[in-house]
Amino acid sequence: MGKGKVILVGAGPGDPGLLTLRGAEAIRSAEVVVYDRLVSDEILDMVPPNAERVFVGKRSGEHSVPQEQINELLLRYALDGKLVVRLKGGDPFLFGRGGEELELPQQNGVEFEVVPGITSAFAVPAYAGIPVTHRDFCSSVHVVTGHARAGGELSIDYSALVKTGGTLVFLMGVATMGEITGGLVAAGIAGDTPSAIIENGTRPNQRVTLGAVSDIYALAKEREVVSPALLVVGKVCALGKRFDWFGALPLRGKRIAVTRPRGSAGTLTDKLRALGAEVIAYPCIETEHIADNAAATGALNRISSYKWLALTSPEGVRSLAALLRELGADSRKLAPVKLAAVGAATAAELEKLGLTADFVPERYSAAALAEGLAKRIGRDERALIFRAEDGTEELRDVLGKSGVAHDDIAVYRTRCVSAKRDVMAAALRDKSLDYVCFTSASTVRGFAESLAGEDFSSVTAACIGSATAAAARGRGFRTLTARNATIDELVNVILEGK
Ligand code: SAH
Repeated sequence: MGKGKVILVGAGPGDPGLLTLRGAEAIRSAEVVVYDRLVSDEILDMVPPNAERVFVGKRSGEHSVPQEQINELLLRYALDGKLVVRLKGGDPFLFGRGGEELELPQQNGVEFEVVPGITSAFAVPAYAGIPVTHRDFCSSVHVVTGHARAGGELSIDYSALVKTGGTLVFLMGVATMGEITGGLVAAGIAGDTPSAIIENGTRPNQRVTLGAVSDIYALAKEREVVSPALLVVGKVCALGKRFDWFGALPLRGKRIAVTRPRGSAGTLTDKLRALGAEVIAYPCIETEHIADNAAATGALNRISSYKWLALTSPEGVRSLAALLRELGADSRKLAPVKLAAVGAATAAELEKLGLTADFVPERYSAAALAEGLAKRIGRDERALIFRAEDGTEELRDVLGKSGVAHDDIAVYRTRCVSAKRDVMAAALRDKSLDYVCFTSASTVRGFAESLAGEDFSSVTAACIGSATAAAARGRGFRTLTARNATIDELVNVILEGK
């Protein structure tokens, strides 16, 4: 049994990019994660699959787990020898009861650590273009809770707050907003003081309401403001319109599913998020290296009988590396052949093995790869192709037509997986999904098979190439096709198509 520990981690206000490096490291090493409602799904996706997840927040209609029980839970897991991460929204010590949760571990001699988080109090206004202080407008900022203790009234000293002339940020104030703004006005704040209500700050569904403090409550009621939201009062709120960088992002309001396998989805997801899209990670295929592959190892052992070795994906290169290891060899074994890569990502994967592709077609597609090879190969020379078990036929077709002698060998296979079927089925049914990104025909198949029976006609499939697009059309999607088979072009086609 290991020695238990409790790490209190601030998860930030929602945007997963606002989790700290130390926080991410703690989550990845956790054996138990105790979390509440404000922690985003993307951050929960970082929890190791074998770690225990314990939700202690409030689901609609239910009560949250009482604080004493949470405290005891943390202690119990830690005394069991577990590395416990207590994940909380924003910063754990700012209206986060972090102090209370450390009491039992401290009293019982359990090791503990605190990882501060980016607090919503400052980050949420920042995503609404509101700097919480500005030399021209104020010299202080005050963070105040708008939550009344059970049964009690708010205990806010409005005149003291108004006197500071500083920016006022109220958390947990959705239910008490009328009382708060009324209190400020009664204490003499100028009725036209700019203010802002920001709901779901830093998230794809962020909504900002700007108005004068005297009428922002009426606006809030009219717009049916929901939690989590915070209220900012102060002259700095006047800057919100000018600096509204987040609201102006081109893919704001778009929901996009990314279907790449876990591990390789990173860049596409990050790029789409940075453009303001809500990304639903829906890995629907997994790739698997084919072990004991006599055809492939045999071909490598006869490598000097080939003129070219062609790779059609980064996964293919990773399988090549695995095959070389299985043979007790390394990249030097490939010295006799020239190397062709279908695109930049495949060429980059070759670089990791210290290998430079001799040919990368200008337009990244299997057909262009085959045409390029046909031009570069002599009559009595042979090409070796390492690719997916059920990959596109385009390559073989073009090679065949051009009379290129070749051996086409599967080195990895893709398998369909569906972890979040319900989320995706719901998004399809309520027609809230705008795009699905497909980077191969196998992801189309994975998606369609995991959601058999659903209607895809309301969704646009953003496809990396023509073969992928043809597969998507075959499943009933409308399609957009990237001009070149790169992640950047895939993102561009969405930007243009939106
Ligand atoms: N410890 C947290 C605050 C917890 S109190 C922090 O440092 O951010 C919870 C309150 O924080 C909510 O009622 C709301 O007022 C505010 N809040 C948290 N996340 C928010 C978000 N994404 N957008 C707007 N307000 C948020």
